[in-house]
Amino acid sequence: MSVERGRPTVIPGADEYDVDISIPEAAVERLLSVGAADVAAADELTFARNVFVPLTTACRYTCTYCTYYDPPGQASLMPPEEVRDVVATGADAGCTEALFTFGDDPDDRYDAVYDQLAEWGHDSIHEYLREACEIALDEGLLPHSNPGDQTREQLATVADVNASMGVMLETTADVRAHGGPRAKSPGQRLHTIRTAGELGVPFTTGILVGIGEGWRDRAESILAIRELHDRYDHVQEVIVQPVRENDRWREGAPDLGTLRRTVAMARAGLPPEVSVQVPPNLADVREVVDCGVDDLGGVSPVTDDHVNPDYAWPALEHLQAVADDAGAPLRERLPVYERHVAAGRCSDRVAAAIDAPDAHGRRFRAVLERGENPADRRASVGD
Ligand code: SF4
Repeated sequence: MSVERGRPTVIPGADEYDVDISIPEAAVERLLSVGAADVAAADELTFARNVFVPLTTACRYTCTYCTYYDPPGQASLMPPEEVRDVVATGADAGCTEALFTFGDDPDDRYDAVYDQLAEWGHDSIHEYLREACEIALDEGLLPHSNPGDQTREQLATVADVNASMGVMLETTADVRAHGGPRAKSPGQRLHTIRTAGELGVPFTTGILVGIGEGWRDRAESILAIRELHDRYDHVQEVIVQPVRENDRWREGAPDLGTLRRTVAMARAGLPPEVSVQVPPNLADVREVVDCGVDDLGGVSPVTDDHVNPDYAWPALEHLQAVADDAGAPLRERLPVYERHVAAGRCSDRVAAAIDAPDAHGRRFRAVLERGENPADRRASVGD
């Protein structure tokens, strides 16, 4: 836990990264009193159609719930030709988003990864990510990258070729699940979220529920995200993600009551323009949708969820059924939310892709303006 009850919030790593967040005790107490009955269901549910591009499985950390990373010597690095194949397949299938996932920066144990990057003419994984994002834009997708913690320089290297970016805060608490010789730090992740705000990058973050944090930690995590959003108006959505059992995590998953209360706290603790998302392949969204969920995240008709490979994406028909049950329309969205596009927060490169006169631009604008994807019309007439 990051604090004792009633004591000022102390976020591990905040001093090291000069993260100046103060969370009023009264706000924590208010949020701790929120339950599912205190929030309203959303009027509309949204989702994005993506392809998942696991650019590398190298990661300097070893979070104990994570099956994504591979150790040095075993980590993959997707070649540019494969990136092009995957994103082109996604564009053909009507996707709008290329979701580039990483672990965190590979450290110098991953010499094979760095040798390969050098062979391809790159000094760093961020330089290569930039090339991959450019491939996605060329092939008709809007990049959304999650490269873990980032310095200002790393973020600036890729910001203009991304429609939006993200990193999960997970928790402000110091939990054993992040332990080990290379533990990741909440202060560093808040620093990344703050830097994205300073650079004007529309951003996705979230909390991971069930990794050893307590209720107070959940409230503080939500309020820390809120404080950064209040400063920079850049957080598009906050994911409330339950941890799930897998080959490396045998410590259980949060029960439904915990998830419902946490989603309600996120809804109550965040301003209305910030969406609350529950990943539909990791939770039964029907059971939590009345707690203020308004986004069902990115789902892929083309690729697996490589971070949670045991949990398949639901079909779009399932999302429609969830929305129908909830009595809310389902609307497709882009990886960058409409209000950020309208406010001119896209880079010139991303704005040009959305405004392009070609079929890709028309697809982006149909989704942006009407929540309709021409791929659905194609499917309904059978071609
Ligand atoms: S959760 Fe992210 S940072 Fe942690 S080991 Fe997995 S890929 Fe790395």
